[in-house]
Order: sequence, then C-alpha cells, then structure tokens
Amino acid sequence: MKIKKQIISRKEHSVSRDAISDNALKVLYRLKDAGYQAYLVGGGVRDLLLGKKPKDFDVATDAHPDDVKRLFRNCRLIGRRFRLAHILYGRDVIEVATFRGPHEGNSPNHAGQNKEGRIIRDNVYGSLEEDALRRDFSINALYYNIRDDSIIDFTGGMDDLHNKMLRMIGDVDTRYREDPVRMLRAVRFAAKLNFQMDQQTNDLIFDLGHLLEDIPVARLFDETIKLFQGGYGLRCFQLLREYQLFELLFPMTEASINSTEHQGRTLRLIEQALSNTDERIASGKSVNPAFFLAVLLWYPMHEYKNHFIEHGEHEIEALLSASREAITRQQAHTSIPKRFSLMMREIWHMQPQLQHPTRKRAMRTLLNKRFRAGYDFLLLRNETGETELESWCAWWTDIQTKNKSEQESMCENLGKGQKKPRRQNKRRHSKTGRQNTPHPAGNAKNAANSSVSSE
Ligand code: ATP
Ligand code: MG
Repeated sequence: MKIKKQIISRKEHSVSRDAISDNALKVLYRLKDAGYQAYLVGGGVRDLLLGKKPKDFDVATDAHPDDVKRLFRNCRLIGRRFRLAHILYGRDVIEVATFRGPHEGNSPNHAGQNKEGRIIRDNVYGSLEEDALRRDFSINALYYNIRDDSIIDFTGGMDDLHNKMLRMIGDVDTRYREDPVRMLRAVRFAAKLNFQMDQQTNDLIFDLGHLLEDIPVARLFDETIKLFQGGYGLRCFQLLREYQLFELLFPMTEASINSTEHQGRTLRLIEQALSNTDERIASGKSVNPAFFLAVLLWYPMHEYKNHFIEHGEHEIEALLSASREAITRQQAHTSIPKRFSLMMREIWHMQPQLQHPTRKRAMRTLLNKRFRAGYDFLLLRNETGETELESWCAWWTDIQTKNKSEQESMCENLGKGQKKPRRQNKRRHSKTGRQNTPHPAGNAKNAANSSVSSE
C-alpha cells in the first residue's frame, strides 16, 4: 500500500483535550514528560473525530513495557501474545502499547506465525509508522500527538473517516489470515459506525470466515460480548448473518433460525432481545450477557429437551439435561464462563414455574434472586409468539405490585379451580437416548465429541 504521512494540525481537526479523559491525559503527560513519544490512538481518536463518546482510551508509545511499569505505580503488565501495560485508576483502565514492528524474519521468541499465517506472538517493537501499519483499519490508525495536538495519519484514515469507509490496512488476505478475529471486528465497526467496507475488506470475509474456527473459544466469547453487548447488537447480529459468520459462532442457533419448527420465533426472540439490549445500553442501564446467551440457546435447548422427552425423560429432568447439553455443545464454539452458564440455567429452569406457578412454589420463585431475569425472559417469550403465556405474564406483573400479604393470598389461590398442568408420560429414561444426542436441528461442529456434559 502507498504510505503517505500526513500531519493534521490542531486547527484542522476536531479533537480537543477537553474531550479526553483525565486519566488518559495523565498517562500521556507522564510519558511525554519522561521524554517518550505518547499518542492517543484507536477508538479514542476515531470516535472523538466522529463526535462520539469513546468507550475507552488507548495509548501508544515508544517506551518499552518495562519502562512504562517503572513510570507508573498503578501499572500491570498483561498478555503474552501482545505484551501491554494497563494503567489502573480504580475501574478505569488506560491501555498503553509499545509501538509494534513487522514480525517477518524476527526472532521466534518475540514474534511468530503459525503455518496458516496466524500471528501467535507479537512482541517485536518498532517505529510509529510501523505501528500504524500493524493496526487493523485505517480509521483505527490515527495518532493524536500530545506534544502539539496534531493528528498523524499514515494510511488515509482521515479520508476514510470522512467517506464512512472501513478499510483494512495492507493486503487484506494476509491481514485476515494473521488474525481472523479482524473479520468480527470489521462487522462490529461497520455496524457501530454505519460504515461501508471497501470491496476487499468486504469480499474476503466470505472466503476466509471459516478461519475463525481455529481461534481459541475464549477469545471468540470475548468478541461475541463486544458484538452483542456494545450498544449496536441488533445491527451486528444482522451483519454477522449476512457475512455468514454467525453460523460459525452459534451453529445450533443458526440451525434453529432456519428450521421450520418454531415458526420464526427463534429469530424474533433474538431480534427483540437485542433491540431491548441496545435500548437499555443507550439509556445507561446495565445488561447481563447471560440473559442474551439464554435467549440465543433457548430454542436449541428446547429441541434437546423434546429429544430427551421422546427418550422417556420427565419434563423437568429433560429440561435439566437439555440445558447442560446445549451449553456444553456451544462451548465448542465460544466458551461460556461458569458465572454466565449458571445464570442461563437459572433463567431456563425458572420458566416452568413461571408458566405454571403452583401454590407451593410461586412465592419462592418470586423471591428467587434471578426472578427479574426469569420474568423478563417469560415476557420476551410471550411477546415473540409463544402461546399460552399471556395470562401468566399478567399474573406475575400484577403480583409484583402487591404487598406481602396480598402476594401470599395470590399464591394461596393458585390451583383453586384450575386443572393441574398435564404431566408428560413418564417412561424410564433410556441411557442410550442420552448419549451422543445429535442436535435435533442438525449440524454442530464437534457433535460427536460433546455427548452429555460433564459439568
Ligand atoms: P472500541 O474500543 O470502540 O471497541 P477500538 O478501535 O479502540 O474500538 P480496541 O479493541 O480497543 O478497539 O483496540 C484498540 C486499537 O488497537 C484498535 O483501534 C486498533 O488500532 C488496534 N487493534 C486492536 N485489535 C487489533 C487486531 N486484532 N489487529 C490489529 N490491530 C488491532
Ligand atoms: Mg478501544
């Protein structure tokens, strides 16, 4: 690619120091005062130029990580693949990265690629210009110089920002192979910024998407959270499906979306949940990834549940087995940390009690620490077309407005004059039915090796 260094002076751009967080400024000043180069880079500069509030501030410097550690008492060095310094101010973290250089031909101790061209270590330091060329997109490679408030652009990032264009720096094929997660990042930025991808950045995703299958599942989980919980989840989801990447991350969910069994409800449930999540984030409310993961896997889990029931398990027993099964199989594609998988199960396991509350257990359900999540989940199921939930949604909504004794009497009245919920026919569960259960909607990478969870 043609490299043309451009310096945009303070007068010619819209980034002002006032918009940069105090902590980021502190880091920049301290580095500068110690004689190092110090730049704000990445999303911080990009978002400020676009008039958006940056999510976080990243700093690039020629100081080595050990030098950074010496300068800041509140510094942690992290990462093996990329050695980075985190400067901690309470919960606010400023990430400081030493300029990276090209990895070809370097000592295997510092940089390395595997045989598919994927970078497995990246700790070779370089110049500012080299650092720019190692970044992903031109709009992410703009450097705000704390010395004179200018912005340095080596890759045409300013023009691309102006033209709403997402362009991979360098040879797109090589850059996607070096780190296939860049494809997910491309989708995320296209969704968040409402930018078009340039042709190669766009087209090669279709050819190289499959490389994501070799990425560690924990990293894919982190990216998934950024995609769905970053405030632009619905658009990210739609784009991931357009680029045929969603099926690589959540194959069971994609199969369920495409199956005729749920009459479009899988898609409606996901889209509604994402639209609610985006709204919550826009109004500053918190979101819990477990809720959305429970949404994504609800219908796939259901298909397992039906399968277990067909093999003689009782309804509740089948729900427990199916929850384990769906989560274990998903973990072959994106990990799910235990704290989230526990909550997903709690949400799912509460559903039978919410849709058929009984006198004995309704009060306990109401007092469950996950009640709110379980109840929201029930409302969402109802809203997106599951039948026979309407009156129970109203009942649970109503009970929350009552005082303690009214609540108790509402629970007492349950079951009076009502038919007991019909029980599934209770055959002994067959061991063979539980092992190696194929996903009823087909597919799933590693279908053969995940059998029933050992969690
Ligand atoms: P946001 O923080 O809003 O999600 P960001 O662009 O700041 O967006 P980060 O993940 O914080 O993204 O990364 C900071 C910068 O580091 C990026 O802007 C980019 O320059 C560089 N970067 C991050 N990940 C990669 C990658 N996989 N390959 C190349 N460069 C990357
Ligand atoms: Mg950032």
